[in-house]
Amino acid sequence: MTINKNSAKWMQLPRDVLVGHGVLEEIGDVCRDLKLKGNALIVTGSTTKNIAGKRVGNLLESAGCCSAETVLTCKATKEEVEKVMEKALEVEATFLLGVGSGRSIDLAKLASTRLELPFISVPTAASHDGIASSRASIVDNGISTSAQAQAPIAVIADTEIISAAPFRFLAAGCGDIISNYTAVLDWEFASRLRNEYFGAYAAALSRMAARVIIDCADSIKPEHETSARLVVKALVSNGVAMSIAGSSRPASGSEHMFSHALDKIAPKPALHGEQCGVGTIMMMYLHGGNWQEIREALKKIGAPVTAEELGIEDKYIIEALLHAHSIRPERYTILGSGLNPSAAEKVARITKVIN
Ligand SMILES: [Zn+2]
Repeated sequence: MTINKNSAKWMQLPRDVLVGHGVLEEIGDVCRDLKLKGNALIVTGSTTKNIAGKRVGNLLESAGCCSAETVLTCKATKEEVEKVMEKALEVEATFLLGVGSGRSIDLAKLASTRLELPFISVPTAASHDGIASSRASIVDNGISTSAQAQAPIAVIADTEIISAAPFRFLAAGCGDIISNYTAVLDWEFASRLRNEYFGAYAAALSRMAARVIIDCADSIKPEHETSARLVVKALVSNGVAMSIAGSSRPASGSEHMFSHALDKIAPKPALHGEQCGVGTIMMMYLHGGNWQEIREALKKIGAPVTAEELGIEDKYIIEALLHAHSIRPERYTILGSGLNPSAAEKVARITKVIN
């Protein structure tokens, strides 16, 4: 039987996903399971190197890898991707690992995709759904863009490490998951107004992750490993929903465009998930939905719900609302062809993001 590649869906998912206390110790077993041998290249930052990077190197060497070299990175830029690729070629790496909160994972993801090598994601914080997805955020010529890459072959999320990270990261991760609600509403909207493909299964999975986080908002607390476990599973699930959809539609809509606009406009942007959470409150208002529920859940978790809590001046919130629709013009959302200044101010005031 011949497969029509246009109608068939190619869903790339991680093969081994480990979530739990102390799972980092099992990294050698994961490599054996995946037949990963030879030279490992660990992509990490200066802080995350001490938290987990060094340990990963030692564990890999004692598990029988020929060598485990480390490359330290500072920013997720195009130049840094090239630096990682050069290092991988120099040490003849056979697989890469991204050990960190986001940047290192994005860099390892993109470099390994270009080199056609497998990569393992080892998050040290749970602040966004890039830990298990096939998308990577990268800064190209000063502009933050989302690039298509491969999904990790394995995700090793040690909740002992993740729950010890500043709570702000986990709360941001919750914002990134809750944003699925408006992302899916935007997707449905685009399906009705633009006849865009809509995947009911991916949408249901995406909504479910957001529902779980909202329903458990009371119990998501700092230093609780059960909280870290819950959020990590929802973030992994987001990666799966995007793979099933074949796009980031189930997890990225107008609220993400607002966050990307803030990244461009605000002098000191907040965390991606924090901005997406605040964006979800406002976009839910525009959709005529229960924005109060979103706001309450974020508040209970301890994620920002106002411009002040984001550490961003009100004027940048308005400016980002005005520019959000132009961030990704091909992605049709509730923002349509853009808000006018009075509508932008109204949504921000009514939802108490600014006062
Ligand atoms: Zn996101």
